[in-house]
Amino acid sequence: MLVKAPKGTKDNLPGEVYKWQFLEERFRDAAARYGFLEIRTPVIEHTELFARGIGDTTDVVEKQMYTFEDYGGRSITLRPEGTAGAVRAYLEHKLYAETRPAKMWYEISCFRYEKPQSGRLREFHQFGVENFGSHNMLADAEVIALADEFLRGLGIAELALRINSIGCPACRPVYRKRLMDFLADRYDALCDTCKSRYERNPMRILDCKSPVCQDLVRGAPVMIDSLCDECKTDFDALRENLSAMGIDYEVDSGIVRGLDYYTKTAFEFVSNQIGAQGTVCGGGRYDHLMRELGAGEDIPGVGFGLGIERLLLVLEASGIEIPLPKRADALVVFLDAGEAKTEALRVAKELRAAGLACEVDTAGRPMKRQFQYADRIGAKYCVILGEEELRTREATVKDMVTGEQKRVPFAKIAGALK
Ligand SMILES: [Zn+2]
Ligand SMILES: [Zn+2]
Repeated sequence: MLVKAPKGTKDNLPGEVYKWQFLEERFRDAAARYGFLEIRTPVIEHTELFARGIGDTTDVVEKQMYTFEDYGGRSITLRPEGTAGAVRAYLEHKLYAETRPAKMWYEISCFRYEKPQSGRLREFHQFGVENFGSHNMLADAEVIALADEFLRGLGIAELALRINSIGCPACRPVYRKRLMDFLADRYDALCDTCKSRYERNPMRILDCKSPVCQDLVRGAPVMIDSLCDECKTDFDALRENLSAMGIDYEVDSGIVRGLDYYTKTAFEFVSNQIGAQGTVCGGGRYDHLMRELGAGEDIPGVGFGLGIERLLLVLEASGIEIPLPKRADALVVFLDAGEAKTEALRVAKELRAAGLACEVDTAGRPMKRQFQYADRIGAKYCVILGEEELRTREATVKDMVTGEQKRVPFAKIAGALK
């Protein structure tokens, strides 16, 4: 093999892409029904954006970013997530001066250097939404409802929504202290990564995948018991809003989110169908990100990212089949001779103009092989142009399912197929 795709990337071959297109159509439709508009931002951003926006003590920024210096000597990074770029665009183009809140969605590829495993690639894809400019828990409930509606609309039954509040700068330090006190006697037994998290980001220890650490944090104090009045009121409001929309959820104090800018609401949609990698969608609120990225004030935000590769795994594991795309309506089968070819090209063009999906065999094979090709592409009809047909100017239209044939004047083929 001369060239192989880089480790952790995956080709979407022509025979599979219809699954993506189906999900894209569904997501676009759900977003539109909630009034979200699409935004498209560059794959590359200045490295600084992610270092500040994601937090330089996170695994993502420390170990996983695809960063390089471009020929102008700037440090550039392939985006590892979607929010920072959307926020950058929002601030750069002063969209905050327009209607608030701004509601946008995107479909993006993201890049993280991680050990590739099922449903976790180095290049992966996400749908995401962001609501910029609202402090109100109606915004949080709305983005959750959008994800819920999209996911359940696909027929996924085994799907749990878990919500949590991770507090705010007023209450988190108090909790942080309580957590550190709890972990102090257990410090020596923590994994090396968690030892380094202890001072910098102890809440991440709750999220550690090491069984040893998971054991050690059992019984640790939880954030929702340490919420300030404002965070508590907001968490209650979120729950009320979700209930009003009939959305089932469980409170899970274990959701801490990997990224530093999250405040208050954190949520995940989890499927037990795909094992440990079961989080299909994760999101939350980030009220201090905008200031961190240079806005003169705090502009609140809430949103989510929904992993498309993982979603496809869940659909597969749940036995949910994505409908096959529309097949060719017709193949024009023609005798390989001058006049028949001219006529075939003309007929095919006419059928396409009439809205039908119509092919000719572009490999120029004999008629018998053209019929085999018709089977391959699943053509519903063959429109046959042989010697007899050219003489009478009536094509033979063959139904490829029933085998039935009839003669149709050239001018009426489109009508007959429809
Ligand atoms: Zn608080
Ligand atoms: Zn650990």
